[in-house]
Amino acid sequence: MFADIIIDISHEQLDKTFQYNIPDELRDIVKIGSLVNIPFGRANKMIQGYVINMGEEAKYPVEKIKYIDSLVTDKVGLAGEMIELAYWIKKNYGSTMNQALKTVIPVKDKVSQKEKKSVCLNVPVDEAKAMLDTFLKKNAKAKYRLVEALIEEEIIDMSIIKSKLNISASTIKSLEDDEIIKINSEEYYRNPVPRRNMFGKNVELNPEQRQAADLIKKDIDENVYRTYLLHGITGSGKTEVYLDVIEKVIESGKQVIMLIPEIALTLQTVQRFYYRFGDKVSILNSKMSKGERYDQFLRSMRGEISVIIGPRSALFTPFPNLGLIVIDEEHEGAYKSDKTPRYHARPVAIHIAKKKQIPVILGSATPSVDSYERALNGEYKLITLTKRAGDAKLPKVYVEDMRDELRAGNRSVFSRRLKTLISDRLEKKEQIMLFLNKRGYAGFISCRSCGHVMKCPHCDVSLTAHNNGKLICHYCGYEQENVTTCPECGSKYIAGFRAGTQALEKLLKREYPNARVLRMDTDTTKNKGGHERILECFANHEADILVGTQMIVKGHDFPDVTLVGIVAADMSLYASDYKAPEKTFQLLTQSAGRAGRGKSLGEVVIQSYTPDHYSIQTAAHQDFRGFFDQEISYRKLLGYPPILNMLKVTLSSPNEEALDRASTSLKERADKVNNSIVLGPTKANIYKINDIFSKVIYIRNKEYGKLSSVYENLDNFVIGNPLFKNVLVNYDFNE
Ligand code: ADP
Ligand code: ZN
Ligand code: ZN
Repeated sequence: MFADIIIDISHEQLDKTFQYNIPDELRDIVKIGSLVNIPFGRANKMIQGYVINMGEEAKYPVEKIKYIDSLVTDKVGLAGEMIELAYWIKKNYGSTMNQALKTVIPVKDKVSQKEKKSVCLNVPVDEAKAMLDTFLKKNAKAKYRLVEALIEEEIIDMSIIKSKLNISASTIKSLEDDEIIKINSEEYYRNPVPRRNMFGKNVELNPEQRQAADLIKKDIDENVYRTYLLHGITGSGKTEVYLDVIEKVIESGKQVIMLIPEIALTLQTVQRFYYRFGDKVSILNSKMSKGERYDQFLRSMRGEISVIIGPRSALFTPFPNLGLIVIDEEHEGAYKSDKTPRYHARPVAIHIAKKKQIPVILGSATPSVDSYERALNGEYKLITLTKRAGDAKLPKVYVEDMRDELRAGNRSVFSRRLKTLISDRLEKKEQIMLFLNKRGYAGFISCRSCGHVMKCPHCDVSLTAHNNGKLICHYCGYEQENVTTCPECGSKYIAGFRAGTQALEKLLKREYPNARVLRMDTDTTKNKGGHERILECFANHEADILVGTQMIVKGHDFPDVTLVGIVAADMSLYASDYKAPEKTFQLLTQSAGRAGRGKSLGEVVIQSYTPDHYSIQTAAHQDFRGFFDQEISYRKLLGYPPILNMLKVTLSSPNEEALDRASTSLKERADKVNNSIVLGPTKANIYKINDIFSKVIYIRNKEYGKLSSVYENLDNFVIGNPLFKNVLVNYDFNE
């Protein structure tokens, strides 16, 4: 028996397989997906590799084929079916096989399980009773206490014996040596979810929800496997629909993968699942320890949990009998990996589901243009929820034109209407959320006399002013003291455009000295649980106003928030990417949707300098269809995804000349491959980061398959080509 092994060295040139002989003693142990130790090269250096194929035919003279040394025991191998998935990802997203294999392994290191020790008697109870006398006579009080306790209670936890009974390790040891007691140790799982206040409520599905859930369940009964797009306005109760379908899947003995954007993985969300399914639920997130992650992996593999809730990587949970994948907030950018392979969870989930013959549910109040287009084409089955669940009503939305404010002499960050409404809510003791749209924006320092902007000397971006008096580059970490005069013209009118969350918080404290203000952004949520603490604090009414970035949009339901203010709505419209209007619409709709989830009517103020833009107008009316129709007509006109598929090739180098030569030759090569549309090379959005220059080439084709063949062709051209010696090439599909 022979094995084809791919070597675990992250080097492109080594992305090929080597054949090894499987020794007899490993015959039953080594499988496709196993990670093994093998002697490699002339020096027979011991290295690791994954078995990706097995067969009985030798590809070389048998005496030249080396033997596998052993199985790697401290790292996780792969389930065999994951090899196919890795290959699919490699082909569709552009990466080496090794990178793809690493992607589909949800945890890498094995971490030994924690042990729990307990003590019981090792002699019959009568014998133990008889011993008590002897202990008394010898004045062995500790031994007496322990044996007496064990006669009362069969098994006692080691921790209790040490703390409550106050018995020393030496006493325990001595009793164990005399074979009077026995110490049991049991492995247990690290549990990532704190079991405190697990409350919830049982809701009865409303007719719309019922219909949605029944449709999917009927398909499951009839073995019809589809991808559903559940489009339900904010607060329409999509989660209850998922729960209803999930219950059915669990009852049939299968397991469920539930993807949520990491940021929405709050205790509140998880609690709804716990309340319904108890211990059968577990979570994965990036702040968990290695041990916690490994234990959830083991529990899933052993079929001990039925629902795993987690971010994109939870897709690779090795369940024995997967029955459903749900992707909540399917429009979220976080579902796309920012490392090679730059896969998107949605197509990967659909690929897995097709192989396994199971359904996928995509849910959102603001579906991605891509998914909605596919739903209209009939590729996905569209299900709509049009009403808010329970008693909640949609909020009333005002769009305030900030240019008018300036004309009326109001120079504040807050419009007159927002100010009036904030005072009103503070008086009524209702809660307020203020949302700063910071996408694509940095709080830069500019000179009002000459227009000079303080920039990072290593990157093509402006520096951001921080409270500690420093200017910081968010790309490379460069720091310098803030300036008091302009380095260009000497003017002292150099200052920041005040629109960061910190500045907003300060301003609020000045204008409303009695209001209790909480701030949530990447600075205040760095620590494990930081994000959670702030949300809980706000939920408990320990603050009146919550100020934050897009982070505050997700994951928590605050029934007492009756006012949402979006301070700078159009900031994200200026980001130079074709998805800017879509992202702006999503952010505005989602944040407006935070208002009025309880019994009282909510109000929303959207402040904008471009109030007539269709993203803002349609968001103000919670009009998804209006937005979509407008947006898809632009995409058709310009040939952007999902109308055409797009491959973005980014070339980077510290040497501008080398970069120019390489990108020109790559563009020429791309022109020759097939009839794809090739644009560029042009300078990247941010041309210089950390003294590395980047250029991009865009390649478009109606057929995705044609684009992946362009990728393969370019990749072959680049590997080993001296023109690319100092140039890094990255591939990104549909971005
Ligand atoms: P979505 O995910 O669509 O934004 P959720 O599932 O979070 O909506 O539901 C919003 C709120 O409405 C939650 O507090 C939920 O408990 C409540 N809810 C959902 N369905 C019902 C129902 N049928 N009856 C009463 N309340 C409901
Ligand atoms: Zn100046
Ligand atoms: Zn920098």
